[in-house]
Formats: sequence, C-alpha cells, structure tokens
Amino acid sequence: MFKLGKRFNRRSFFRAFFGLVLTYIFPWKVKSLTSALPPHHTGDGFRNTDPNFKQADGLDVFNWLISRGTRRSFSKETAEIPSTTFNNILVENVNTNSVTWIGHSTTLVRCEKKLFLTDPVWSETAGPYNLVGAKRYTSETISIEQLPDIDIILISHNHYDHLDLNSVLSFAKNKKTHFFIPLGLKEWFADYGIQNLHEMDWWQEETFGSFKIVCTPAQHFSGRSPFDRNNTLWSSWAVIGKEKRFYFGGDSAYFSGFKQIGEKYGPFQLSLIPIGAYLPRNIMGPVHVDPKEAVQAFLDVNSQMMLPIHWGTFRMADEPIDQPPKDFLAEVEKRGLNWNAVQPFKIGETKIW
Ligand SMILES: [Zn+2]
Repeated sequence: MFKLGKRFNRRSFFRAFFGLVLTYIFPWKVKSLTSALPPHHTGDGFRNTDPNFKQADGLDVFNWLISRGTRRSFSKETAEIPSTTFNNILVENVNTNSVTWIGHSTTLVRCEKKLFLTDPVWSETAGPYNLVGAKRYTSETISIEQLPDIDIILISHNHYDHLDLNSVLSFAKNKKTHFFIPLGLKEWFADYGIQNLHEMDWWQEETFGSFKIVCTPAQHFSGRSPFDRNNTLWSSWAVIGKEKRFYFGGDSAYFSGFKQIGEKYGPFQLSLIPIGAYLPRNIMGPVHVDPKEAVQAFLDVNSQMMLPIHWGTFRMADEPIDQPPKDFLAEVEKRGLNWNAVQPFKIGETKIW
C-alpha cells in the first residue's frame, strides 16, 4: 500500500471529497462549438457522439451517491473473488503471447515479444490522494517491482480507477517505457516529469516499432475534480502487430463505435472488455456497459478471445461485486457462444492467446 505523501493535509482531503460530490451535481458546462473541429471536440473539451447517448440526470446521480454512502456503511460484501499465484515465467517468456489479469482494468499483454500494460492501478483506494473513493476489495497478486520491464502502457482516461498517479510514477522510472494517452492528458503526465508520451485523438494511428497503435473511441467521460469535466479525452486502444492484434476497451457504455472498430481493425485475437459497475442503469447505462452489452461488444469488435475486466477489484456500483461474471456467462450461454473463449480470469491468472 502506498504511504500518504506530503501533498496530503486535512484541508485538501475535504476539498477533494466535496469536489467529487460537486462533480456529480454540476456535471455540465456550456461548450462552445466550433464547426471545423471533429464532432467529438467541443472547443474546450470533448463529448460523446453516439446518437443514442444521453447523459444521466444530475439529480438522480446526486441522490444515488447520497443513498449509496448510507447503504455502504451498513452493508458488507462477503463474496470471494477468485485469485491465483501470478505466473511470472509465462509473462517473461517473450516468445509466448500471454495475457494476465492484474485486477480491474489493469492487464498485462505480451504481444509479439513486447509487453503492454493497460490502466495500471496498484493503489488501495481509487480516488484523490488515494483516500476518497472506491476501496480495493481484492488484492493484486504481484507488486510493481516484481514485474518484468514494460514496453508500452495504454491509458484509457483519467478517472482514478484507471489513472493512478503512484502507479504511473513507479512505471515512469523505467525510461524505456512509453505511455500512450488520449488527447489532453499530455500536460498532466509532463507536469509529473513523465516522458515518452504519445498523445492521440480518436482514430489516430501511430507506428511504434513493428506495431500500429490506434486510439479508438469509447463512450464515457473524464475528470479528476469538479472543474475538469470532459476536458481530456477518453478512449479505447487497438494494437496491431504483424500477426496478432488485440483490443483494450477501456471504460465504455455500449455504443456504435464497437462495430466500427471491429470493421476497421478486426478481427482481434484478444479483447479486454469491461463487464462491471453497471447498476443502477439510469446512472451507469450512459457510461458503462452491462454484462449483456459486453457480450455484444465482444461480438461487435470481432474478437476470438475475451478477458472480462472492470469487476471484482474495486466496489464501485450497486451490483454485488461477484455478480458481473454470473450475468455475463448467462448471456454467453444464452447466445450459444464458446464458453472457453470468454471465461472470466482469476485475479493474477495468465492465459496464452
Ligand atoms: Zn471511468
């Protein structure tokens, strides 16, 4: 667990807490529209462009946060999330294409001899100063120090459960590690002295060694305080090697972009797609897929194998923490899909792809 830094004091704690609440009450800012910009650019930030996108009602969100705070102090989660010993040998074997679930959206993907890491979060709390926010429910099975050198880190957006300052600072010590980040995040990383930044917009492609790395859309939002709502972009990522390709879905609601990504860059041999934090639907529906939609997203992006992410690690929504894989597999069975190709991983589990 990370120690509290010098940056913390009582005043900043309360500022962060009320800031988080205010973000949900006043999420809108009037954005100036500039016609020359791509549709997802607003001039001073970004927005979702799917015709079916509808922002959750601010009052509903506020009421949910308040009732959730009360309920949380009474209810205790007892479900056990399966975990297993981390298989470092397989990850270190550069000739084997492997994928490991570290927990939540943090995954290690060995692809054509390079090691990719997605949304690295090792902190105990996903929130400002690692104090306010969702607490870690299931421990990771490997420390950052035990990992082999990471070549490329893919960041989906700046929410605390995806962009963890302490974790990225640890990885940035390795000067060979490159960070691929959505538009608008370069300044944040550079302010902390992090180098090797590749800031990209939706549908932008970059050649990196023998790979083509594509910043692909997601339907979500961003912000780390009440004052930066949607100022930086959110994204998913497609990694295209010589023979293998994988898709990292980041954090997203169900939207038409999945099909577009599949048509443009599929078929993928592997996809990392969120399945958790989906209830209540009136709050979560516009920004998080539910398990049924995750199955559809897996089909839309045209993938052979899936690692279901964004569940079992931080308690963030109203469904029981072990519910997402149950609902997900029920849908897989209903549709007669290949169970083995989408079987949820244990935390720390590695599979070959
Ligand atoms: Zn998010």
